[in-house]
Amino acid sequence: ELNLQDARDEVVLSVEGVIDLAMKVLTQDGLSPAQAQPLARAMAWAERDDCRSHGLQRLPGCLDTMRHPRFNRNADPIPEEVSAAVTRIDADFGYSLLAFERGLEMLVPKAKAMGVSILAINNCFHSTALWPEIEAITAHGLAALIMNPSHSWVAPAGGTAPILGTNPIAFGWPRKDHPPYVFDFATSAAARAEIARHRKENKPIPVGWGVDSEGRPTTDPAAVLSGAMLTFGGHKGSALATMVELLAGPLIGGPTSLQSMAFDAGAKAAPCHAELVIAFNPALLGGETVEHNHAAAEALFAAFGVQGARLPSERRYRARQRSVTEGIRVDRELYDRILSLVAG
Ligand code: NDP
Repeated sequence: ELNLQDARDEVVLSVEGVIDLAMKVLTQDGLSPAQAQPLARAMAWAERDDCRSHGLQRLPGCLDTMRHPRFNRNADPIPEEVSAAVTRIDADFGYSLLAFERGLEMLVPKAKAMGVSILAINNCFHSTALWPEIEAITAHGLAALIMNPSHSWVAPAGGTAPILGTNPIAFGWPRKDHPPYVFDFATSAAARAEIARHRKENKPIPVGWGVDSEGRPTTDPAAVLSGAMLTFGGHKGSALATMVELLAGPLIGGPTSLQSMAFDAGAKAAPCHAELVIAFNPALLGGETVEHNHAAAEALFAAFGVQGARLPSERRYRARQRSVTEGIRVDRELYDRILSLVAG
């Protein structure tokens, strides 16, 4: 009943169909529906927006994460007020998204009242993309910045050993007559999954993605996976990744990527760490000039279009529209693999 139409190599699903499928897999393994729902939704949105690396293919990894000895399938996070501008929520070793959704209920009114507000999420297992969280904030007319460390897979510029995480940074700017300006990427030169895909397909990777265990540049994906990844932009990406370690780590009582890796202790679970969420209220910060400020931002975006440059997320929004009219095309091999998880 999930598939609307079968093609030869793909199955066409609705957003609700993907959510149902993900919910079946996650809850049959004992994850509480409250924990599973936001995770299943995020996967469905990733499929809808053609961000496949964070879609259904994450499900087997989610089950691995739930086998970490500290994972809490029934975590029931409650936000706590730290100050007029700051909210903290202890995810209690469950997934990050339920904690985010509950924390958002305090973050948004505080940002509206104070001009800027911070949500610190602690003790969350985390493997999702950050743009769904960014969009949940920009929907309230707020700008947003989110970051988190991960596992220590990345060497610093000039170094040879992995000590930094893949450390994503995501940003969103609300727009009136358009979907928000959003970017969301890791500070590593390439995603770890992308390097693993090259290894699986026996393909070399570009120079600059990583080094081998001796710290030598290499195009061999296997050598990088057992050596170290590199950041984008040399010393600049390395410093940004370090900033993420500090702001979403020690600043808010969370672990560094090195500590997250030690906590994993070989379980191969998603990183368990803290996440920093900051919301800004343009209406309060801009005051009487807020309309002028929005117009200046729009003029900047228009200047991209004039020279044929696209904004980040435009590809994603186009995919979203396509999914509304055509449904979500899921690779049949992946679909069958996920169904076998339900049956098993
Ligand atoms: P990419 O290098 O693919 O960059 C993605 C971002 O850049 C998107 O916003 C994308 O928009 C934009 N973009 C890509 N190409 C262009 C272009 N030509 N012009 C303008 N904008 C462009 O992302 P990563 O592989 O580094 O990260 C992918 C995902 O992985 C992210 O969602 C990130 O949050 C997630 N991640 C999560 C981690 C975690 O710990 N939870 C760790 C690491 C990564 P568009 O989508 O429209 O193409």
